Amino acid sequence: MTDKLLRALAFDGQVKVYVIDAKNTVEEARKRHDTWRTATAALGRTLIGTALLAANLKGNDQITADITGEGPLGRILATSDAKMNLRGFVNNPQVALDSNEEGKIDVKGAVGLPGFLKVSKQIENYEPYTGQVPLISGELAEDFTYYMAVSEQTPSSIGLSVLVDKGDIVAQAGGFMIQVMPGATEETISALEDKINNLGRVSDLLNSGLTVEQLLDRLVGEGNSKILDYLDVRFNCHCSKERFSDGIKLLGKDDIQAMIDEDHGAEVVCHYCNEAYQFSEEELLALVEEA
Ligand SMILES: [Zn+2]
Repeated sequence: MTDKLLRALAFDGQVKVYVIDAKNTVEEARKRHDTWRTATAALGRTLIGTALLAANLKGNDQITADITGEGPLGRILATSDAKMNLRGFVNNPQVALDSNEEGKIDVKGAVGLPGFLKVSKQIENYEPYTGQVPLISGELAEDFTYYMAVSEQTPSSIGLSVLVDKGDIVAQAGGFMIQVMPGATEETISALEDKINNLGRVSDLLNSGLTVEQLLDRLVGEGNSKILDYLDVRFNCHCSKERFSDGIKLLGKDDIQAMIDEDHGAEVVCHYCNEAYQFSEEELLALVEEA
């Protein structure tokens, strides 16, 4: 099941707006990695933030967000290509902390400060680029916003939200990114700030059943935007048995022979999507021949 990311211009082209509904993507990540509620929210927010950053990619471009704090989750990593195929993982998926003092999922506690957010981009015809900022919040939306301001010099406002229901299933997931274009007037900026300050929680808005179009209206005002297009978004890993065969071959004949002698086969699990691939003794023998 695919999700939708909407791209729009607002305030007569002075502001770019991206709004995403990522419920199916985050739920697929939860199922694949068997994440518990706090890990579901943290990985989900990271996937949504990565999708928002990926919304400007083209061709074979790729982007990766890599978050590490001192909390129980360990590392959280999400990556997307220009076709919005998202995948990602969290080192310790079985983290479920008590709610914070506001009664919300304690993502900050699970991420744990100090830490950093590192963003790597592979843009066609350019050297790979990596930018890194310290985590300033741990709730992640502010951290992505801070990254955009510091590392990309793009003033943005980012909202990321994942609602996990009582059965630990993803009930809602989504977010937005607003970017002020160079040359935007003071009037526009202050009107936008008013809107964002009065927006309320994204999670509450999503929970009230708003569509991405309605969320867009809430962000910039009704009749104040022009929708450019929609991108399909999904959790989709490009791993395959063939790719892992190539990886096994690189280990060399001796190591593959040891897998045959000691384990009579091998199981390889993809970090990104948790898919397991089985290699029989016969298949490993064939790889020894090719190694
Ligand atoms: Zn995979």
